[in-house]
Amino acid sequence: MRKKIVAGNWKMNKSLSEAIALLEALDDSYETYATEAVEVVVAPPFPYLFSIKESVRNKNIAIKVAAQNCHHEEKGAYTGEVSASMLSSIGIDYIIIGHSERRQYFNENSAQLKNKIQQAFSNNLTPIYCVGESLAEREANRHFEIVEQQLTEVLAGISPQAKFVVAYEPVWAIGTGKTASVNQAQEMHAFIRAVLQTILSPDTAAATSVLYGGSCNAQNAKDLFACTDIDGGLIGGASLDATQFITIIKSF
Ligand code: PEP
Repeated sequence: MRKKIVAGNWKMNKSLSEAIALLEALDDSYETYATEAVEVVVAPPFPYLFSIKESVRNKNIAIKVAAQNCHHEEKGAYTGEVSASMLSSIGIDYIIIGHSERRQYFNENSAQLKNKIQQAFSNNLTPIYCVGESLAEREANRHFEIVEQQLTEVLAGISPQAKFVVAYEPVWAIGTGKTASVNQAQEMHAFIRAVLQTILSPDTAAATSVLYGGSCNAQNAKDLFACTDIDGGLIGGASLDATQFITIIKSF
């Protein structure tokens, strides 16, 4: 059985007190939305990770904590960067890797992303590897080719035992209010699973959660999550509001 996951990517938003307040709102009503069937993940900015992790640990709440990025080298003279081992040392569970904003604004390429994934594995962190085509690529009917390339260049050759999550996030749907239709999303998720089967193994393809991301909200989550190959969501804007995020979690 694949894990159902709803992960909130807070990006570069909120002050510390606002971040704590958001977490507390999620903690306070945890019993109303938590089920064993759905894993809830939050990805706060780096400076808040330790406090947020401590807070869920102290309250004994099953919310998992993700970093939004890590450096592709193990350690060294990389001023301003954060390593996967540092994240592991404070108990972080997941790392978002290859988000389209990092590919676009920080020129992250497949070679670096492959190293980041390896860093995550070496430090017992579960990568949430993001893939997705731009609007121009979709309009040119190149979306399958692009996603296949992003998966193959970064995931081919990883250990068959490695546990990871894929997030399909069409770039044209991120933060734009445009969501992929249920058919577009399901079709791509099934394709991703087929690629994982080819480059890794049928078992890995069947066991890997593939999340949808891109303007997923309280209104559209239910239809998206009902699709056979959609195992949850990576949520940006709508995860900044506890009520909306909880409604999305309850869509399962
Ligand atoms: C994201 O950036 O991962 C994302 C899905 O953003 P949004 O939900 O705001 O489109």
